[in-house]
Amino acid sequence: MNPETLAIRLQTERSQYQEHSVPLYLTSSYTFHDSEDMRAQFSEEIEGDVYSRYSNPNVSEFITKIAMLEGAEAGWATASGMAAIFTTFGALLSSGDHVLSCKSVFGSTHRLFNEILPKWGIHHTYVPIDDFDSWEDHIQENTKILYLETPSNPGVDIVDLELAGALAKKHNLIFVVDNCFATPIIQQPLKFGAQLSIHSATKYIDGQGRTLGGVIVGNQDLIDEIQGFARHTGPCISPFNAWVLSKSIETLPLRVEKHSSNALEIAKRLEAHPNVENVKYPFLESHPGYEIAKKQMRFGGGIVTFNIKGGLEAGKEFLDGLKLLSLTANLGDTRSIATHPASTTHSKLSPEERASVGIGEGMVRISVGLEHVDDIWCDINAALTKTVCEVGKEEFGIISLSVDELAIARFGMGNSECVIRNV
Ligand SMILES: *Cc1c(COP(=O)(O)O)cnc(C)c1O
Repeated sequence: MNPETLAIRLQTERSQYQEHSVPLYLTSSYTFHDSEDMRAQFSEEIEGDVYSRYSNPNVSEFITKIAMLEGAEAGWATASGMAAIFTTFGALLSSGDHVLSCKSVFGSTHRLFNEILPKWGIHHTYVPIDDFDSWEDHIQENTKILYLETPSNPGVDIVDLELAGALAKKHNLIFVVDNCFATPIIQQPLKFGAQLSIHSATKYIDGQGRTLGGVIVGNQDLIDEIQGFARHTGPCISPFNAWVLSKSIETLPLRVEKHSSNALEIAKRLEAHPNVENVKYPFLESHPGYEIAKKQMRFGGGIVTFNIKGGLEAGKEFLDGLKLLSLTANLGDTRSIATHPASTTHSKLSPEERASVGIGEGMVRISVGLEHVDDIWCDINAALTKTVCEVGKEEFGIISLSVDELAIARFGMGNSECVIRNV
């Protein structure tokens, strides 16, 4: 079946009530028929739910759906994306092991590499993302994992998964990809030689900014190791969050396609804007990874980054000028979101350090949402030009609405739809 159908129709279990929509199993443990059944389930001779730190029907359903969409044999779900990443390292690495990665990885993943894993004698090397030929020189005797993120957060850098997969295979490395920005709908790293694909389900998989969650899918033998580690260390996802995420998957293909088409349109308009220095979006021809992105991604995804002319101050002023877009740390929401890494997530770094991880002073990251693209653009354009967003003013004059915040009224006018706003 196609992903759109799978996402909606894949239901792994039905209770005796034959419910059409999966019920929520809020239970921390499960009962056994008798002592023999209990013994057998505890010793894993027969499969069944024993305790919700190990498994739960909602969690199993969520994992199965993501595994199917990624073309993976198995999976494991965790309380957050970081729990998924840490659990993977915790399960697969031992003291003295080495990880090869790039600087273009999520901020908390950097913290893991720099501050947490070294406590157990696990070290890493960052290879330059734009010089693949040099990577092999950095592989050591004790290198166990090749860990990459593509597209990366926040810089939307692209890594060639096929090349990376071949390198990992040649040196017998476990190839792990953080696939959060792409989602299983856009990109399936396992097809390009990855053994594990990790998601922060908090982002697009939830898609409405409600729950935290993480999931790892991939080869059965590695998932078995991860499961063995996770069952006894407890980073499990709550059944409620798994249920929400599992329902969200039904609309994931639809949402991701629309996020992507809105984002491409916003990226194009930004690129043509006089106050914008440059734009990065995987499906813009100006992106250095455009050809690779076209090869390994179905759509460009929902994240656009751009540099505003005027650096740090201009970046802050841009955020202050926004009325519709949210200022919040999340991404992948139906609501469009803007962040300015230099004054927020990466403010503790020097401008030089920021530059070394690809973050310009005026860099803004937009998680393009599902509002009408003209409304998103109107707000961005107004903040860029320090004007007020007033579409339709010429035709109708300004209509006053007695609210402080932006009010939007829509009017059907024959064939044309017009948006009137007032601040
Ligand atoms: C948000 C994010 C994470 C961490 O996920 P949480 O659910 O917040 O723990 C990891 N990787 C990427 C690329 C992310 O954007």
